[in-house]
Parts: sequence; structure tokens; C-alpha cells
Amino acid sequence: MKVVIVGAGPAGLITALNLLQRGIKPLVLEKQPEVRSTACGEALGLRWLSEIPFDSNPYIAKRVTGAKLIFPGGNFDHIAKECVVLNRTDWLRGMAEEVKEKGGRLSLNSEVISVEGDSIRLKNGQDMGYDILIGADGPGSCLARYLDMRYSSIVASQYKITLDTSGMDSLEFYFDKRFSFGYAWIFPKEGAANVGLGGDFAHLDAFLRYKGLDRQPILRKEAGIIPNSGLSGKLAQQNMALIGDAASMPNPAGLSGLSSIIQASHILASNIDNLEGYQRQVKNHPIADPALLRGGHIMMNFNNRDLTHIGEFFAGVKEGEGHAPRVRRIAKHPSLLLKLNKLRTVYKAGKMAMDYGW
Ligand SMILES: Cc1cc2nc3c(=O)[nH]c(=O)nc-3n(C[C@H](O)[C@H](O)[C@H](O)COP(=O)(O)OP(=O)(O)OC[C@H]3O[C@@H](n4cnc5c(N)ncnc54)[C@H](O)[C@@H]3O)c2cc1C
Repeated sequence: MKVVIVGAGPAGLITALNLLQRGIKPLVLEKQPEVRSTACGEALGLRWLSEIPFDSNPYIAKRVTGAKLIFPGGNFDHIAKECVVLNRTDWLRGMAEEVKEKGGRLSLNSEVISVEGDSIRLKNGQDMGYDILIGADGPGSCLARYLDMRYSSIVASQYKITLDTSGMDSLEFYFDKRFSFGYAWIFPKEGAANVGLGGDFAHLDAFLRYKGLDRQPILRKEAGIIPNSGLSGKLAQQNMALIGDAASMPNPAGLSGLSSIIQASHILASNIDNLEGYQRQVKNHPIADPALLRGGHIMMNFNNRDLTHIGEFFAGVKEGEGHAPRVRRIAKHPSLLLKLNKLRTVYKAGKMAMDYGW
């Protein structure tokens, strides 16, 4: 069976490794002259790495034991969860080498420009046949366009800055509308941090000033788009399937893409001769739960007053203490009481995002 994967990002390479484990040797086509990361905060839950048939340990820049959700006014919720921040370009290159060592093929400078029936055309004019075609070509996917799959996206901007992170043991998420319609983040690496947000660089500069980080040397500046429609569209048609950002797979409540890719690529590899089954199983998986999309939209529409109250709701409540103290706090804020149903959806989405989306 000739399986062609378009894109040597996380979705393409992780799917290739899962296929190789099943004895299928795919060809991965990458348009760039080298394998390298697109813009990314590089963070994900530690548990997902062990689900890739590859040793990711050498590529972990920093391990942390939790995620801190910080609200206007400074109140925060701390969620215990082992997470990592990767050196993503090195990680991708390591996986690409493993794909080749195990008998897969990687072709660089190979941009797919169109699909015509059972063959694809590359930018260099070459036509290539396939039995199964996998679109892992990111948010601007040409395969998604061919399948007439449309989704909305947000813009995200990020600096990698020099920073002493020795005292940081959490991924930090800042929910504050002065800076982002979604959230801003600080993800620590060794001696550096990825600082970014949903929004443009003017907002990111304002966030850096607010955090007193605006004098830190900037090591890298990058931006990208993140599909935020959730998994409502098509994932497969005949002998073609989409995965990763090409399929709008990022979790719309957390805007993270890596964990969904790892979970979906197992399903894709085990259904490679039954792509309808792949689509059905992913759509029934928690990564496709509509609550994630609803929760993401509600969070985007909360204003800073709501977010401040949510912060007060979390303040001082210890992990595992139960919800009673929190419910008493909600009762103090009539504006939140009116939004109780929305809060429930956000809570469910946030919990699912932490369980499956990070
Ligand atoms: C600023 C920012 C921060 C983020 N932070 C995080 C985070 O901390 N954690 C997290 O989980 N997610 C994060 N995400 C989302 C995450 O980066 C993406 O979900 C993930 O990169 C998607 O992987 P992918 O393989 O689907 O696509 P990509 O990473 O976009 O890879 C696609 C690959 O396909 C290649 N390609 C594209 N078109 C073609 C073509 N026509 N022919 C051949 N090759 C092609 C590209 O060159 C690329 O190598 C972030 C996104 C952004 C923008």
C-alpha cells in the first residue's frame, strides 16, 4: 500500500511513526528544504509523549508540575499536571531520522500544489500516484482546500526571550482582555521562555511591559495561525484523510494542537484501510467534544469583570478541597450567577482541555 503523507510537521511525522509500527512504510513530502518547527509554544502534557513510538526525552527543554491559570487582579488557579516544554525543531528532526531509519522515506523541497484524482502534483512539475493520501500540511492545507473543508482561525504571536526560569514550575496562562481575546502564556525552557498570546505583536509588547519582561533579549520572533473551529468538518473522503491543523484539530478551548495530533494519529494508523472508521472514531473521541468549542467561545466573550470574578472564585481554594467554597464565592457575584450555565460549560471544557487537550 503506497501511503503518501503531505507535511513533515508533528502530525505527519507522528503518523508516519505509528504507520511504521504497523509495518507500513510511508513517503513523507515536505515543502521546506529542512524539517523545522512552525511557530509554537512547544508545551504539552508529559503523558502524551509516551504514546508516540519514539523516545522524546532527549528533546524536553523543561518539565513542570502544573499549569497556572491567572486572572485580572492576580488571583489564580493551579492545576497539578506534569507538562513539558520541548525543543520542537530538534524533536521533529529526531522523529524524521527515526522515520528514515525504520524504512520510511522523507522527501524535502517537495511542495504539493494540487490533487487530481489518484495523483498529486508537486511544485517541480512531478506527478505522483498514491493509494492513501494523508494531509498533514498544517493550517493552510492544500488537501483541506481540495476536500472543500473550511474553518476559522486565530492569529497567535510569540517571542522566545532569555529568562531565568529556575524558579518556574508551571505553564502560565493569563486570561486578561487587555492583552488577548484568548489568553497570553509564559512557557519556561532552560534559561529562556516562550512568551506569546492570541493576538498581534503590539498586544504582546504590551503584555511584556506589564510583566516587566520588555528588556529581556528576544531570541526569536514568530507568528502563526491556529484553527479554532474544532473538529466539526470532514476528516476523510475516499482514500484521503486529514490530520492535525489541516483538519482543524487544535482543541478550541485551549488552542493547543499537539496532544490532539498524538491521539488522532493512533486512530488514523489503526484505520489506514478504513478511513471512514478513522473519521467516525475521532468524531466520537473526547478531543472532538462540542463542549470544547462552546467553552472556547464563551471564554472569548467574557469581559475582564467576569474574568476578575472567576479569579476571585478560584482564589485561596486549595486543590482537592471540593467545590463548596467556590460555589459560595459565585453567589457573591450576581453577574456570574446570571452566567451559571456558561460557567458550567467553561468548567467542563476547561477540565476536558486539561485532560485531553494539554
Ligand atoms: C504561536 C503558536 C503557539 C502554539 N503553541 C502550542 C503549544 O504550546 N502546544 C500545542 O500543543 N500547540 C501549540 N500550537 C499549535 C501547534 O503548533 C499546531 O497545532 C501544530 O504545529 C500542528 O501540527 P501540524 O503537523 O498539523 O502542522 P504544522 O506544524 O503546520 O506542520 C505542517 C508541515 O507541512 C508542511 N507543508 C505545508 N504545506 C505543504 C505542502 N503543500 N506540501 C508539502 N509540505 C507542506 C509545512 O512546511 C510543515 O512542515 C501553537 C500554535 C501557534 C501558532
